[in-house]
Amino acid sequence: MPVVYICKNCGFELYTFERVGQDYYGLPTPSEIMNWYSGVCPKCNAKLERPTLDRIKVSFRGKLISLKR
Ligand SMILES: [Zn+2]
Repeated sequence: MPVVYICKNCGFELYTFERVGQDYYGLPTPSEIMNWYSGVCPKCNAKLERPTLDRIKVSFRGKLISLKR
């Protein structure tokens, strides 16, 4: 079940983690992803914040669902 990190401002998919075992390092932390983008969304230039659980979406049967609600 993929995990998707999304910009809270524009919904841009910052990173999609397809499955456990995709690479050696496993699921990157939100702060690692923020570092890759220098803390700024590449699409809308919004400042990225450390996401809370409800900002992290999980793709389920083709739909993005929130982990928390
Ligand atoms: Zn954005």
